[in-house]
Amino acid sequence: MKFPKETRRYCPYCKKHTKHTISILSAGRQRGSLRRGSLARARKRGLGRGKGNLGRWGSKRAVSKWKRRIKSTQRKVLLYKCQECGKIKGKSQGIRTSKITIG
Ligand SMILES: [Zn+2]
Repeated sequence: MKFPKETRRYCPYCKKHTKHTISILSAGRQRGSLRRGSLARARKRGLGRGKGNLGRWGSKRAVSKWKRRIKSTQRKVLLYKCQECGKIKGKSQGIRTSKITIG
């Protein structure tokens, strides 16, 4: 999908139509690796010690990572930045598309 760099749309803070620049919300950095059900997280709680895994702490990645690879598109969220007040507003529901080009 193609989007222009600038557009005129309503700014709820300025309460009028102003010029907005469009950008894409980028994915945030993943913090730590204390995922639910991970061995590292269990060790923090004093569990997951000793020999063997006792049938727990599976070695496979999350099912969604290696099974059911259907979705080939991602939901992208567009951010609109008002050029008068500098406030950024994103569309509440992103657009499901494989590629976004701006400008
Ligand atoms: Zn504004």
